[in-house]
Amino acid sequence: MDKSFSAILNLESFEAAHLKTLLSSEGDEKKALFEKANEIKQSIIGNKVFFRGIIEYSNFCQKDCFYCGIRKSNSNVKRYTVSDSEVIDAALFAFKNRYGSIVLQSGEMTSPAFVERIENLLKQIKVLTSGQLGVTLSMGEQSEDTYQRWKNAGAHRYLLRIESSNRLLYSQMHPNDLMHDFDRRLDCLKLLKKLGYQVGTGVMIGVPGQTIDNLVEDLLFMKELDIDMCGMGPYLEHEDTPMYEKRKMLDSQKQRFDLALKMVATLRLLMKDINIAATTALQAIDPVGREKALKCGANIIMPNITPAKYRTDYKLYENKPCTDEAADDCLSCLDVRISLTGNEVGYDQWGDSQHFQNKNNI
Ligand code: SAH
Repeated sequence: MDKSFSAILNLESFEAAHLKTLLSSEGDEKKALFEKANEIKQSIIGNKVFFRGIIEYSNFCQKDCFYCGIRKSNSNVKRYTVSDSEVIDAALFAFKNRYGSIVLQSGEMTSPAFVERIENLLKQIKVLTSGQLGVTLSMGEQSEDTYQRWKNAGAHRYLLRIESSNRLLYSQMHPNDLMHDFDRRLDCLKLLKKLGYQVGTGVMIGVPGQTIDNLVEDLLFMKELDIDMCGMGPYLEHEDTPMYEKRKMLDSQKQRFDLALKMVATLRLLMKDINIAATTALQAIDPVGREKALKCGANIIMPNITPAKYRTDYKLYENKPCTDEAADDCLSCLDVRISLTGNEVGYDQWGDSQHFQNKNNI
């Protein structure tokens, strides 16, 4: 392996050119990158992998993102919202099975009734689990008041992917209107930070027209924003979306998968103490995709605990895995899968971002 490549692996601060070299690595160099990321993850974060049981709360969405299967204009989607009692049951399932945390994710809605329902659910979950179950939200762009209310009700982490930090690419991925405004999304991330949430963002990897330089920008954007958590994965086509028309421009799924792993590993080098998720989209391409990510820097996994009857309708992309399994089946299989990666499950623990704790002297 080139000497200069191993020197880059050991840098303390990274410039764009270094990140580009890492993202472009192949063969032995790629292997060395993955090993280095795993070494950093093991020494700084430890060998625990933390669970966030994800409840896909609703596929109603007021947005029309060009890549997403549950976009407003897709009339082939059977729309649903999980009932309150089913959400509570799923949260209690996670609690009893010692998951430590859940994520409530949803299509984007901002109506007062929606905001209030989520607020009440958060309060109930907190009471029923004596405040012991960690709760992350992933409900898109909301007002400051809404974010504050949900925080007061018990949410402490929020995931809002920037999708792409490059304005031009972002504008190619979304309708050009106020509802899909890059600056508004950025403002939301800043608001969430200000309100004291642990903030996660992320991007899709392998979007038509995206370059390695764009991904370098994305990594530097995450560093600059000083995020606490990251969830990113390969872009996967969905035939009922406008972006499907650009599928001939795409790299193979295998290439997108590989690039996503390199993004995870490179981010681990760049931000050593944040939480990084091994995302479900990785598993859609490779049956052990998430496990591979856990071996090159990721430390979070999000088992799907959505009631089975809704799962096929939360189809952001094609081949979404685990759509026909009940939550319990996932648990036993996950525990084994994780121990095979040389890690163990951090049962009953929130597994908060060390970065958040370090910067706030907690
Ligand atoms: N409404 C929420 C949750 C969106 S779904 C929000 O706006 O934050 C969660 C993530 O799924 C999105 O942020 C997006 O990055 C990802 N996603 C959507 N469509 C996808 C696709 N076709 N391929 C891969 N990931 C996709």
